[in-house]
Amino acid sequence: ETNLPSVATFSQNLDNMLGTAGVQLGSITELLGLPGSGKTQLCLQLCASVQIPKELGGLDAEALYIDTNTHFTISRFREILSASLLRCQNILEEPLQVTEDEALDKLHYVNAFGLEKFCAFMYMLPKFIAEHPNVRLIAVDSISYPFKEGISTKQRTGLLFRLMADLQRLAVENQIAVVLTNEMSTRVGLSTGAVVGSLGDAWAHRCNTRVLLSTPHLHTDVSDGTHRLALLLKSNVAASSVAPFQITAEGIRD
Ligand code: ATP
Repeated sequence: ETNLPSVATFSQNLDNMLGTAGVQLGSITELLGLPGSGKTQLCLQLCASVQIPKELGGLDAEALYIDTNTHFTISRFREILSASLLRCQNILEEPLQVTEDEALDKLHYVNAFGLEKFCAFMYMLPKFIAEHPNVRLIAVDSISYPFKEGISTKQRTGLLFRLMADLQRLAVENQIAVVLTNEMSTRVGLSTGAVVGSLGDAWAHRCNTRVLLSTPHLHTDVSDGTHRLALLLKSNVAASSVAPFQITAEGIRD
């Protein structure tokens, strides 16, 4: 195992759980969870975190967000980004070298709705990365959505198999952290009919890290709805464990 840097989640609990202080460059992390469990919010946080200046141990890099299902809003990203910049500024105790608009430009957003558009962009991805060498994070939100309908299980398995192999090569060769979200259906739970069930070995094998996000059952009525749980399902470096975190207006926090 090489000691590649990571993109911090802004939750100490999550970073500790991952055992790598965030999502690691050169590897693929899957975020699995029900709708509303926080997969998109965590992706957006990581897209902001990847910009943390070098002085603070960050990567001072750019992110690529591949949107397959319309849950992204620029206003929400701006909110998380400005909170993240402010936090860096407070720690450094001096103004940052980057304006909010410049920071916003460091997120490359791609609309890849529908299977054809998604596959077309994924085919172009190595070229895109060659043209944007400072990208250190790729979020695919979500990987399962384009494969939901209009494709046979066999075709899906074949496509995903090749896609995952390409992504893994890209991650390793370019030292990029790849984050894939995978929504579970409320009806079938973990078996999810979509990706998890049908892809089997190939899928699980290619994801270096798998994290299940969930909303804890409410034991009290004082919960404000921001609390979430992350469960580490697979990791090369850390033992399975659970981490509580929150989704706040500023982004992901403890
Ligand atoms: P899906 O599978 O539907 O895409 P998801 O797992 O990606 O779901 P998110 O969109 O990441 O879910 O999480 C939605 C939750 O994030 C909301 O229910 C809310 O709790 C929280 N959230 C979203 N925006 C804000 C905000 N501005 N301030 C605080 N919390 C927010």
